[in-house]
Amino acid sequence: MRNSGQGTVLVTGGAGFLGSHLCDRLVERGQRVVCLDNLATGRTENVRHLLDHPRFSLFLADVTDTWEIDEPLTAVFHLASAASPPDYQRLPVETLEAGSLGTRNALRCAKEHGARLVLVSTSEVYGDPREHPQRETYWGNVNPVGPRSVYDEAKRYAEALVMAHHRERLVDVGIARVFNTYGPRMRPDDGRMIPNFITQALSGRPLTVTGNGQQTRSVCYVADTVEGLLMLGDNEAPGPINIGSQEEVCVLTLAHFVRDFSGSRSEIEFIERPEDDPHYRKPDITKARAELGWSPHVRLEEGMRRTLAFFMERQTALTTGPGDDRPNPSRKETQDGVAHRAAQGLGRGDHA
Ligand code: UDP
Repeated sequence: MRNSGQGTVLVTGGAGFLGSHLCDRLVERGQRVVCLDNLATGRTENVRHLLDHPRFSLFLADVTDTWEIDEPLTAVFHLASAASPPDYQRLPVETLEAGSLGTRNALRCAKEHGARLVLVSTSEVYGDPREHPQRETYWGNVNPVGPRSVYDEAKRYAEALVMAHHRERLVDVGIARVFNTYGPRMRPDDGRMIPNFITQALSGRPLTVTGNGQQTRSVCYVADTVEGLLMLGDNEAPGPINIGSQEEVCVLTLAHFVRDFSGSRSEIEFIERPEDDPHYRKPDITKARAELGWSPHVRLEEGMRRTLAFFMERQTALTTGPGDDRPNPSRKETQDGVAHRAAQGLGRGDHA
């Protein structure tokens, strides 16, 4: 065990769905958090409750640009990336750069600070898997030029880069392969199945199921996923380590579940299945249990109850969508007293 509950942590992508929950837990356990985000898919709203906290700073910057953190860090959690298929297909180059340049920058930062780097990778590195459930030893089945490749290959490259730094003993690293995660703060228009099904059910619109809905996913409640990431941060294991739920469900079953659970009378509408959509996905978490002592605890009913409560509370926000709190390019890219320099790179045209 190392650095448990101590020191300042950088969370790239900290204003996103998963990142903001990680920031919450780090602050809660007494650590100082610098949250770096360009708000491309993250939202200030997700961390608004932390903005006045003395141990939290929001640093508006793009992880692919040049930036520095001027206070000592003990850990860097690198999450910054679009993560939902519609988002990363809308931001293809940005996604590739977050995985490549962004990971390089996160590693550079970790190296300078002698900090541990936790790469938040993805089950997408397994592509449309031929092995089930997926163990970390499986190399995957990824279309390198398909529509999902911008995310899959970026994360695969990120893993390779991180492992190279590990082999060269340049940085203390840990790779987490995070499987489907859900919970409060998912954007209503994020495009993934759970926020889609919930917003559709709550508004009485048909739930859009792709293909025949027999493809499977194993969905993990966000609090469990975050606990796994923290445990990997506190550990010395390089990974990769799968972090995900064992509750494998068909997409159609999940749609029925969300509809019934929310008391909705929406219909189910079958729509075209996206290209390269994985047929099955379920992690083998033997390694997470053995090396981290981690396994998920929140059952689907409980996680869905909490998620639904969040979406119902924000029902008015459902219609407004994202973008309201995206960064204003003319706004100064510093706030909350973070000692940092967002240097030269900020002017690059492709990132606001
Ligand atoms: N999906 C669906 N309806 C939707 C959105 C997604 O049936 O409105 C399907 C999608 O085709 C996939 C599964 O749900 O088979 C999970 O998709 P998601 O976008 O949540 O994440 P993925 O696991 O594919 O990255």
